[in-house]
Amino acid sequence: MLFSQDIGIDLGTSNVLVFVKGKGIIIREPSVVAVDQRFNPPRVVAVGTQAKEMIGRTPGSIVALHPVQNGVIADFDATAEMLRRFIKRAINNSPFNRARVMVSVPSGVTEFERRAVNDAVKSAGAKYISIIESPLASAIGAGLPITSATGSMVVDIGGGTSEVAVIALKDIVTSLSIKTAGDDMDEAIINFVKKKYGLLIGERTAEDIKIKLGSAYFYDGEGAMDVKGRNLVDGLPLNVEISSEEVRDALADAVKQIVDAVRTALENTPPELAADIMDNGITLTGGGALLRGLDKLIEEELKIPVEIADTPIDCAADGIGVCLEKKL
Ligand code: ADP
Ligand code: MG
Repeated sequence: MLFSQDIGIDLGTSNVLVFVKGKGIIIREPSVVAVDQRFNPPRVVAVGTQAKEMIGRTPGSIVALHPVQNGVIADFDATAEMLRRFIKRAINNSPFNRARVMVSVPSGVTEFERRAVNDAVKSAGAKYISIIESPLASAIGAGLPITSATGSMVVDIGGGTSEVAVIALKDIVTSLSIKTAGDDMDEAIINFVKKKYGLLIGERTAEDIKIKLGSAYFYDGEGAMDVKGRNLVDGLPLNVEISSEEVRDALADAVKQIVDAVRTALENTPPELAADIMDNGITLTGGGALLRGLDKLIEEELKIPVEIADTPIDCAADGIGVCLEKKL
């Protein structure tokens, strides 16, 4: 018997979420693939969480890579294999010959990049594929009134891209995508501790610091944490203490670029819609929306109310789910 299943995929730079119609989001895994380079082509040994755990601590021939970078596919084979494994798991290894997949791509990707996503999903085994622009999916998932003529603004801050979009009548009216997002914040922290303390840390430690202490604005309960790394000078293990304020300073540049992108997008928005946004506010989605005080900073800088979506990391996948279930 042929088996038909509707699946939604949010193929992000940091995370892949898989939605199965009738079940909801059933996979949330990092977009990471570990490959063994002794083989040609390299053989995939792990994907998702398992692969992410290998970052920075893999033995010689095994490397953990990010197959999606800045929202677009950087390694086609690794992306396709990762999707194949996730989809297989999502449908419990059922035969997969009629799966319909809806996948999101960032706004502003080229036709070539869009085709690469389509082809990767196809080579992962899907039969029918449709593509939705991720800001639209995120806006739907965040519950914004996208079918109305009133303009809504969604700002999605992921790992590799921050996307600002104004939506009205189910369409993206203005959008702006920049390649400054969560990964750049991690990198800024790496560079900061290297410069100030001569300490080398990896990307996972940097992300951990960002999540535990990071902010865009002063917050109640600021503190400090111990950070372990390697001394740049003698290569030995070293411990330093880092404060909330230091992390905020380290992140300031990346944060400013995101705020500036929102400002520019507003300036490019037709006046009537800009007026709607002034009244209705801006909604933040994506993991970066969780950076402490980012909402407050944007509010203060642009004098517009800002709200964080309820489950910001799920918004795009939830939005695709709404489309699959035809609840729109
Ligand atoms: P993508 O769509 O690109 O896969 P996500 O929307 O899943 O990205 O968000 C991932 C980004 O959000 C990562 O850079 C991650 O470090 C960041 N992130 C997750 N939680 C937090 C948090 N509490 N504070 C700040 N950044 C966070
Ligand atoms: Mg995303």
